[in-house]
Amino acid sequence: MAYQPSKERYASMKYNRAGKSGLKLPALSLGLWHNFGGIDTLENARSMIHRSFDLGITHFDLANNYGPPPGSAEETFGQVLKQDLAAYRDELIISTKAGYYMWEGPYGEWGSKKYLVSSLDQSLKRMGLDYVDIFYHHRPDPDTPLEETMAALDLIVRQGKALYVGISNYQADQAAEAIRILKELGTPMLIHQPVYSMFNRWVEDALLDVLEENGVGSIAFSPLAQGMLTNRYLDGIPSDSRASRGHFLKETDVTEQRIAKVRKLNEIAQERGQTMVQLALAWVLRGGRVTSALIGASRVSQIEENVAALNNLDFTAEELERIEAILKD
Ligand code: NDP
Repeated sequence: MAYQPSKERYASMKYNRAGKSGLKLPALSLGLWHNFGGIDTLENARSMIHRSFDLGITHFDLANNYGPPPGSAEETFGQVLKQDLAAYRDELIISTKAGYYMWEGPYGEWGSKKYLVSSLDQSLKRMGLDYVDIFYHHRPDPDTPLEETMAALDLIVRQGKALYVGISNYQADQAAEAIRILKELGTPMLIHQPVYSMFNRWVEDALLDVLEENGVGSIAFSPLAQGMLTNRYLDGIPSDSRASRGHFLKETDVTEQRIAKVRKLNEIAQERGQTMVQLALAWVLRGGRVTSALIGASRVSQIEENVAALNNLDFTAEELERIEAILKD
């Protein structure tokens, strides 16, 4: 059946400005790292993309290597776009990245101009796009001069292959330097994509300050710690969970100590009329320091539950203190 987006799609989503740019992103964005590859069911992937858009999620985040196999998440997204969303391209913010291993030889990973330009050309073909909205350098390259990597991002914008550019997984000082170089080149850095959740708070040390000072946005990946900040693992490891697949989230990551924290956090969530997931997402977005929380999902119902987090984003000082005490314990 032909897909018709909901007429109510902009009724309840919140949109936040990315730094000092003109671009607003939904408070929740959908990432296609897992569950959208060639090994996954196309119908489920398609339903998740539809439901997200119906709920006001206008931003879909990809990378050259998402799958498996690498590249196949972009192909899946391209297929759904062509079939169902082509008429809505101007309502979508599509991002992709390059930085991790993609192909053999010296030009298939890291941060050279050769790799970044070739990789984006491949991504555009896989998705059937003329341009992406945001193109990221996916991880810092210790060997390529940062000037070259940033010049490649600037070039890509000037060529019209990306509207905006960003970086991911850069430490605070590297990010500051990248922001400075790009500014000099005349292409402002739009956004940084770091990992950030109740279980991984490194961005609070310095990165968020650097981004704020420079008017750069932030989009937090793995805000649910890949699923640990949910009710999924309270009674062991379900066979259909990411931890049971064991590639990126290992069963050994799901420790007793973490699950004990989730149980305590869950009590606060319930008092707030939220689920654990909703508490974890609201917490990442607290105080407006993070532009968007970038979630993953394996089924439509998870996306629905996660978007409902936006119904209660405010915290009392007492709630924040109690959460702090649990996390520091
Ligand atoms: P999350 O921390 O949101 O984890 C997503 C997983 O949590 C889902 O696959 C699902 O696990 C579980 N989950 C989600 N919602 C619910 C729910 N309501 N109830 C129960 N379980 C739930 O994010 P990801 O780790 O998936 O990362 C999100 C995105 O961030 C990626 O798709 C990618 O776009 C980006 N990313 C970027 C990186 C980078 O280096 N720049 C690195 C990693 C991610 P299950 O599958 O077990 O059901």
